[in-house]
Amino acid sequence: CGIVGYIGQNDTKEILLNGLEKLEYRGYDSAGIAMLNDDRMNLFKVKGRIAALREKVDHGVQSTMGIGHTRWATHGAPSAENAHPHQSTSGRFTLVHNGVIENYQDLKRDYLGEAVFSSETDTEIIVQLIEKNFEKYQNTAEAFRNTVSLLKGSYAIGLIDNEDRDTIYVAKNKSPLLIGLGEGFNVIASDAMATLKETDQYLEIHDREIVLVSRNFVEVQKLDGKVVERKPFTAQIDV
Ligand code: GLU
Repeated sequence: CGIVGYIGQNDTKEILLNGLEKLEYRGYDSAGIAMLNDDRMNLFKVKGRIAALREKVDHGVQSTMGIGHTRWATHGAPSAENAHPHQSTSGRFTLVHNGVIENYQDLKRDYLGEAVFSSETDTEIIVQLIEKNFEKYQNTAEAFRNTVSLLKGSYAIGLIDNEDRDTIYVAKNKSPLLIGLGEGFNVIASDAMATLKETDQYLEIHDREIVLVSRNFVEVQKLDGKVVERKPFTAQIDV
């Protein structure tokens, strides 16, 4: 399973699809990508191979920001409905997740009694909770931090808010995720191999940190919002 994301100046489609292909070795049963542009969030999901996703994707869509995912099902059968990215009920928030949310049933019971779900995944609880918290905080970074602080288990997360075209929100705990740094763009990836064509400069994310990733700016934070300084490393290419 794996995650790849891009925010920059170029079209994101091939970067996401090629990146997901590079992550195929990690194993998966379904895949999907979400790409935001001025018109809408464009979402494509399939059960099966990246090759099938490539066929499903509308190659006419142009977008400079997106997230992609390969899923290894833990909660809910492998299917297009359960494939990521998942969206909140309003459609405003779109999220990919690798890992397992151990307390998802508690969170569902305690906070999401009225929410209508469209998948059987533990993951959908995260994005529904972000939407719910947004109603309270009216601030996406804060709703994201608050939601992540409630999660127990393992997660690598990428989130897009349709109303914020300059940020991919990222969180990590016990599942791999890196930030790749570029000139006028940045990427996220489970393994640097997925995005080495884009950059060889990467930032590590420590467990229970969140990262705000923009085109010209990356900010690592603790869950209380405190900013963390981190130096990039150069990814080695194995040949
Ligand atoms: N637990 C999530 C699911 O079943 C994510 C699985 C993964 O890591 O791909 O959808």
